[in-house]
Amino acid sequence: MEVDFEIALAGNPNAGKTTLFNALTGSRQHVGNYPGVTVEKKEGVWERGGTAVRIVDLPGTYSLTAYSEEEVVARDYLLNARPKVVVNIVDAANLERNLYLTSQFMEMGVPLVLALNMIDVARDRGISIDHARLGRLLGVPVVPIVARKGQGIGDLMSEVVRVAEQGREWHASPISYGDDLDAVLLEMVAKIREASFLTASYPPRWTAIKLLEGDRRIRERGMGENPELCAELMDLVESLTDHLQETMGTFPEAVIADHRYGYIKSILIQGVMSHQFDAGRLHTSDKIDKVLTNRFLGPLIMVAVLMGLYQFTFSLSEAPIGWVEAFFDWLANAAGGVLPDGHLKSLVVSGIIRGVGGVLGFVPLIMLMFFGLAFLEDSGYLARVAFMLDRVFRTFGLHGNSVMAYIVSGGIAGGCAVPGVMATRTLRSRRERMATLLTAPFMNCGAKLPVLALLIGTFFAEHQARFMLLSTLLAWLVALCVAKFFRMTILRGEPTPFVMELPPYRFPTLKGLLIHTWEKTWRYIQKAGTVILGVSILLWAMMTYPGLPAADKAHFASQRREAAARYHGAALNRALAAISAAEAEKKLEGSAAGRLGRALESVSWLPGFDWRTNIALLGGVAAKEVIVSTLSTAYALAGPEDDGRPLAEILAAQPGWSPLLSLSLIVFTMFYAPCVITVVCIVKEAGSWRWGLFAMAFNTGFAFVLSTLVYRLGAAFGLGG
Ligand code: GDP
Ligand code: MG
Repeated sequence: MEVDFEIALAGNPNAGKTTLFNALTGSRQHVGNYPGVTVEKKEGVWERGGTAVRIVDLPGTYSLTAYSEEEVVARDYLLNARPKVVVNIVDAANLERNLYLTSQFMEMGVPLVLALNMIDVARDRGISIDHARLGRLLGVPVVPIVARKGQGIGDLMSEVVRVAEQGREWHASPISYGDDLDAVLLEMVAKIREASFLTASYPPRWTAIKLLEGDRRIRERGMGENPELCAELMDLVESLTDHLQETMGTFPEAVIADHRYGYIKSILIQGVMSHQFDAGRLHTSDKIDKVLTNRFLGPLIMVAVLMGLYQFTFSLSEAPIGWVEAFFDWLANAAGGVLPDGHLKSLVVSGIIRGVGGVLGFVPLIMLMFFGLAFLEDSGYLARVAFMLDRVFRTFGLHGNSVMAYIVSGGIAGGCAVPGVMATRTLRSRRERMATLLTAPFMNCGAKLPVLALLIGTFFAEHQARFMLLSTLLAWLVALCVAKFFRMTILRGEPTPFVMELPPYRFPTLKGLLIHTWEKTWRYIQKAGTVILGVSILLWAMMTYPGLPAADKAHFASQRREAAARYHGAALNRALAAISAAEAEKKLEGSAAGRLGRALESVSWLPGFDWRTNIALLGGVAAKEVIVSTLSTAYALAGPEDDGRPLAEILAAQPGWSPLLSLSLIVFTMFYAPCVITVVCIVKEAGSWRWGLFAMAFNTGFAFVLSTLVYRLGAAFGLGG
């Protein structure tokens, strides 16, 4: 007979498929075979109010791998016949295991309706399920039924007809499989898309996942269609497999399964399922979760852990940072001793060695922080942090997974916005992701810390620790509020009630931690190293050229001669140093950077910055740590080597510098344009250079307004002294 559309019934064995199928179709059934295999194919027709629907009863399966004929039949049917709706029947008494298949349907992108069967059995076992909440979290309609008694079947079919009439496209909702896999998946999907590899039959991401899972059938089909590309993809799979073996002693397939279960678990514990727990039957992970994500204990433990990470990073990194700095000082002196005076020496010592040394000085700090984070991440705890903070973040239009990006960007221990921006990949909603990656650079990254340390140490030395903590809190507050602002304006949209994965707890292996730490650190060194080197040279050139006019040179030379005639001994040295300082200042002021800084004074007087500070801030766009070195060049004038006084002392003694100005500069430094490397990352992650420009313009404008308010209001209330 004529049917309006076709749907499929799918589910685990014994979930009640046949019972439901019989209840729907009665005697109007037809049994045949799928072509070429012994698997039975049952079809029937359901009819109501002039709508006739063909129903195909798929073989019961737990998964959609290629291990059994049933699984292959089920997935081939879905991909080839593309039924209008798939009714996924799940056993409410074994929800967690049943949803494993559901997660795979969702990844395939089939239009899904969940039939929550056997709720009578579940009830008898003391399990109650909030089906509406389950539906909301999954993003799939859920209808509770008792197939054996025919309860709920009418509602189920109404839902099916409704979904079918929407005529929804297939839309895969991707699950995150953790950093390692997600990165490779992205790469594979890009290649698959580009070459339209198997895309006539399979969604690109699905193909990629299947190849990662080691799916023989897909590989064979792929080899037949495009052997070169397929081999290329298999190379990616292989290197990932090696990597996982080395770091975690596991396989992609196992990681995928872990994350699927984690995804399901995170849904179930969000008030979807309640259960009279029998403690003896809980898995270790669940037992740990009872403590670590406990409503009261959880947040306390979290604060303790994060504080611990802060302590760990800072106390352990102090000494190594000193070593690195000492090494670069030695190098600068050595190079200074060997090279003849002149521009080359100045370039090598002030431009290259100081600039690159400044960046590499942070490597110990960054490495320790990455190590701590890798520990939290590999052990599975970081996902719980995100889980616990999800509700707070939701009120600001963000998502629990945004926490990760903030923390990595410097939310606790001076991270770096570059990996922070990349960490937003775990966010599924584009708007939430954009809001997160645009605000993550507000965090106090490792490069801002020395600037803050200098300014706070100079003017608020007694309250150093308290000010540091305050500035961290301020960063969070501002980031969250700006995110909320974005979500109410340019990134307006519904929050996605989506869920993050809670992988099982594991004790991380030292080897895995070291490899993960090194990978991230190396990425930082490469990115920072290359860009900073270029920028240091550029800044050096801008601060050196065009150099002093001949008349000025002659003027300073005659001053020196005069001094030599008048003084001798220590007094002469002092006089000569003062002359050199004045000459350096004159030279800097006349340089390209100096002129730019002067020009900017026409606006920067509002937050109180003079031309020297402007130069430093311009340099800070290249990399925030450049602010300190540029300030020291601009203010120490003849250079700290000649003078010996620390920069903090010099600043404190400068006329015009006050605690209030320092506060204004702190605020500006914290919130103005992200550094160039971060902007490049934003452009890459957001997919358009416009967002990079937006971030620079918005943040700078925002910081300008904020620091002007601080400076002008502070002065109005008499805090200027
Ligand atoms: P299939 O393997 O998915 O086709 O599952 P069946 O339809 O054969 O059902 C397996 C068993 O569960 C049968 O004994 C059914 O009678 C029983 N069953 C199906 N639905 C329900 C239900 O809603 N409640 C209860 N208590 N039993 C059910
Ligand atoms: Mg059956």
